[in-house]
Amino acid sequence: MPDRIDLHTHSSVSDGTESPAELIAAGVAAGLTAMAITDHDSTAGWQQAFAAARGTGLMVIPGMELSTRVGHSSVHVLGYLFDPAHQQLVEETARIREGRLRRAERMVERISADFPLTWPEVLAGSPKGATIGRPHIADALVAKGLVTDRGAAFESILHWSGGYYEPHYAPSPEDGIRMIAEAGGVPVLAHPATHGRSGVLPEQELERLIDAGLAGLEIGHRENTDAGKRRLRDYAAAYDLIVTGSSDYHGTGKPNRLGENTTDRSQLERILALGTGSVPFRG
Ligand code: AMP
Ligand code: FE
Ligand code: FE
Ligand code: ZN
Repeated sequence: MPDRIDLHTHSSVSDGTESPAELIAAGVAAGLTAMAITDHDSTAGWQQAFAAARGTGLMVIPGMELSTRVGHSSVHVLGYLFDPAHQQLVEETARIREGRLRRAERMVERISADFPLTWPEVLAGSPKGATIGRPHIADALVAKGLVTDRGAAFESILHWSGGYYEPHYAPSPEDGIRMIAEAGGVPVLAHPATHGRSGVLPEQELERLIDAGLAGLEIGHRENTDAGKRRLRDYAAAYDLIVTGSSDYHGTGKPNRLGENTTDRSQLERILALGTGSVPFRG
């Protein structure tokens, strides 16, 4: 069986549309040989994912996509194989989730001045305990017939320039990376060359992140620009960083399909060798 490794996927524990068990089943159906579950700021899906993988032959790498922030721009850090009980990480992710919840409520309050949408409606339509984000507000806007899908919501009402946007609490990338590394995990910068930002991070900044423990770059991602990917490949070669490629699957919440970008086995082996805080589940 050819290797097909996808290290960035979301379940309904954050803003994916499938439960962790359904996500794993979708990974098996897509012919993946290894996949990571990387919900935003939460490890709550790990056990259900492991249980669903039993007997399938799929390797599940426990992970998370940690929210961090520099000024008003959000920076996502993927963490793999960290200790999910590491105290600082547990406290920080709880603080981020709480901050996200309050920020979503404030956004909905402002939206409700112009559109027939209420905060209880958003909460009722969101999975219990999920890491709440704009995608859940989008789903409520869709349910009310105010937009056609999540994508349309993000291009209008939920856009950062749409008049209702506000950021949420998140630590700095350095602190986030340090926490993941201290928890025995492997920090990888998620989609570092997406449209809309001023391009790839400058080399000095990258060096600071590497000093904090950054181990890799997610280069294969549909939102990284071609020019950005070339720059990232140069960085990876110069600093001997792990290189990953992944789908960033969100079920029906985004067009991204499982396995549309993949990671080489040699790079997964580096992650497995570095991660000491938890172990992959071999289904
Ligand atoms: P938030 O973290 O609450 O600001 O929302 C950002 C999240 O929304 C990211 O995790 C993305 O997965 C998701 N997202 C961003 N743009 C879109 C889009 N156009 N369609 C669907 N989901 C999106
Ligand atoms: Fe997301
Ligand atoms: Fe992300
Ligand atoms: Zn993601």
